[in-house]
Amino acid sequence: MISISTIAIKLLMLLSFGNIWISRDFDFFYFVQQWPGSFCDTKKSCCFPLTGKPVSNFSIHGLWPNFSNGSFPSNCNIAENPFNQSKITDLIPRAEKGWASLSCAGSKKTENNKTSSDNTRFWKHEWDKHGTCSDLILDQHAYFEATLNLKDRVDLLQILQYNGIKPDGNLYSIVNITKAITQAIGLEPGITCNTDPSGNRQLNEIYLCADKYASSFIECPILPSRKSCTDMVEFPIF
Ligand code: AMP
Repeated sequence: MISISTIAIKLLMLLSFGNIWISRDFDFFYFVQQWPGSFCDTKKSCCFPLTGKPVSNFSIHGLWPNFSNGSFPSNCNIAENPFNQSKITDLIPRAEKGWASLSCAGSKKTENNKTSSDNTRFWKHEWDKHGTCSDLILDQHAYFEATLNLKDRVDLLQILQYNGIKPDGNLYSIVNITKAITQAIGLEPGITCNTDPSGNRQLNEIYLCADKYASSFIECPILPSRKSCTDMVEFPIF
């Protein structure tokens, strides 16, 4: 006779070998915002979406499920839950403003022969790589809505400017950037940098952490390495 515990063990094995639990579990979200000037001001350069040059403000890169040890799941459930823009139609105007693509990859030529970036491609990439790993908690609409809501809750540029840190091409101390944000929101951010064409390190992305429902900011269980930054970093004009 097969006991209930045998069935339970078999079910557990099936779930884990089927990668349902292993690859779609996570501990917290990184909510990552990017300074557009630092994406554009590199050797790779950038393209603007059809809606035109984004405003001079931090822009969403993504909402990334992460483990507390620093590793992260990726590309978890694309086959069963592919990106479908019709599921987020109501969110598109907000996403166009706060989550614009700046990549020239897969870019399209516009009527006046300009090259424009492809927002849909960027949102699909973020959903496929990251969103499908948290889709047991947030479906596609909830994932994009929660991400846009997080952006509305913290105005990073305003916080930095209030502390005299402005996107004017000057150098600012990483310690002061971190301190300004920590004092304003009560949580320490992660900061990563990249390099402009002259070799200067510049403020690239700011990481905040959110709980598994992306409903509240939390203390980061682990911060991304600051190795990519020098003590003083450029805050480029955009
Ligand atoms: P991810 O795969 O989510 O870790 O993000 C890295 C990828 O996103 C790289 O291919 C980047 O070129 C791309 N990426 C980063 N920022 C942007 C942006 N603002 N627009 C379009 N692609 C971006």
